[in-house]
Amino acid sequence: MFGTYSDLVAAWKAFRGKENFAVREVACVGAPRTLLCVELGDYRAPAIAIATGIHGDERTGPIALYELVRDSLLDPRYSYRLWPCMNPTGFDRGTRGNSEGIDLNRTFGRGGSSPEAKAILTATRDHRYVLSLDLHDDLDEEGFYCYSYGDHAWAETMCAALSSDLAVDPVHTPDPEQERRELGGLSYSLAFARRGMARVGTLEAPGRLPENRRVALIRSAVLAALTAKLLTPPPL
Ligand SMILES: [Zn+2]
Repeated sequence: MFGTYSDLVAAWKAFRGKENFAVREVACVGAPRTLLCVELGDYRAPAIAIATGIHGDERTGPIALYELVRDSLLDPRYSYRLWPCMNPTGFDRGTRGNSEGIDLNRTFGRGGSSPEAKAILTATRDHRYVLSLDLHDDLDEEGFYCYSYGDHAWAETMCAALSSDLAVDPVHTPDPEQERRELGGLSYSLAFARRGMARVGTLEAPGRLPENRRVALIRSAVLAALTAKLLTPPPL
């Protein structure tokens, strides 16, 4: 699925006409590219952000997110802000970084130090989400895992729902400041965690599994996360 980024854009634009669905392309100031941004659901409902494709060589998330919307599987109790592919040039090249060789998932500090991160942060400046998810592959792994920031109960619920037939690692709960120092920059999820978002997660599909199993797993993981208690205030 999706030979190129323009295939992906065309596939998302073909959803125009779906109820409560809007797709637009957000300009990346300083770079000749745009990012797809999708609004889905009743805008009065509590909002969830789901982003993916920041690493161009990790295709599970972009495929899984597309299928979740195509199949109308996302829980209608929530509204959604979706970033279907945050790294178009890396997607086309099959590279982790963008066409300038930058790992975008280290550029979300100080309002964004890459055109892509700046565009995403500008477009979400005042947004509050009950849950923010970023979907990845870990190319070396045989099991699913998740980094969780803030309230972790939803992540435990998600992993418990998945653990029947697949290796599922426990939820990782990194210290944001230590992670920032180790990465040398803010990831997408860290930027949201630092804004005090209640629940932030980075989901990692096991890259060693065949693609269809990885996609199925990420689809299940997102849907399981949506069944968790997301509307109660997190414990202090
Ligand atoms: Zn990644």
